[in-house]
Amino acid sequence: MKISELLKQDGYRLSFEVFPPKRDSGLESVRYATEEIAKLRPSFVSVTYGAGGGTSDFTLDIAKNIKEKTGVPVLAHITCVSSNRAKVAAYIERLKYAGIENVMALRGDLTPEMEGQDRSNWDYRYAYQLVEELKATGDLCIGGACYPEVHPESASRVEDVRHLKQKVEAGCDFLTSQMFFDNDLFYSFLYRVRDIGIDVPVIPGIMPITNANQVEKALKLSGSHMPIRFLSLVDRFGSNAAAMEQAGIIYASEQIIDLYANGIRNVHVYTMNKPAVAEGILRSVSAILGQAA
Ligand code: FAD
Repeated sequence: MKISELLKQDGYRLSFEVFPPKRDSGLESVRYATEEIAKLRPSFVSVTYGAGGGTSDFTLDIAKNIKEKTGVPVLAHITCVSSNRAKVAAYIERLKYAGIENVMALRGDLTPEMEGQDRSNWDYRYAYQLVEELKATGDLCIGGACYPEVHPESASRVEDVRHLKQKVEAGCDFLTSQMFFDNDLFYSFLYRVRDIGIDVPVIPGIMPITNANQVEKALKLSGSHMPIRFLSLVDRFGSNAAAMEQAGIIYASEQIIDLYANGIRNVHVYTMNKPAVAEGILRSVSAILGQAA
């Protein structure tokens, strides 16, 4: 099912993100964990694409496996920064062959070497160019990334949403946001997005932080603002694995409930391939979703 159709339905929904293994040796265990996550019946499961594209086979393998074993709709990610038109065309063919109709079109992060290079003759400098190409195939539902706290390369909030608008006009059917830990940042972003005339659904991305080490990684990845309320929870429970997992699930669940209460219908959860975390979140909102816990 196309995610654009799913997002039009009534009610509240939760979707999950998983990631593929980096090596062949991890494939079986990741297949198992991601299947367990999909069996919780989220509205869809997205499967990320390894930076640099080296693990694209695993992205398709995991997405196809989820779709075939559980029937849950899947969204396969693709990045374009280190790619070229021929590789992208081949990936689209493989997506279609696997019966996957939803694709998340991303640029990917620049490596430090890339940042110094002349990129004017690259096939893809920005994600909107990939979106245009995917759109031209005519039958894919396309997602794009957005950043409530502004993408780190953008000079300003205004410039960031202007580029986002260009990406949506190129053909995005919906947007999914980078993680954030303070919902007010998302609400004010949504205001900027609607104000500039972007009218596609914007799905907030929530990352349950369930161990203290994740805090630094999340900060590095997203540059997110960490509210004091959240940091004191990490200070207090960070050295107790079980307590930190419970506190992280509850913090994320409260964010999700607040988003639903403010009219957001679909929330995307970064599960880090942890079925217990996905289940914990789902349980805490099961009555809202109308699902048995
Ligand atoms: P773009 O939309 O191209 O934006 C990148 C920067 O360029 C922004 O600062 C933007 O303002 C600017 N820009 C855009 N258009 C123009 C223009 N015309 N002129 C000048 N500047 C412009 N990474 C992975 O490697 N694999 C994944 O699976 C993955 N999944 C993700 C999922 C989500 C929901 C999110 C939020 C991010 C994900 N990422 C993933 C990370 C993403 O690849 C990086 O954040 C990357 O740096 C930007 O990708 P983008 O698609 O947002 O790029």
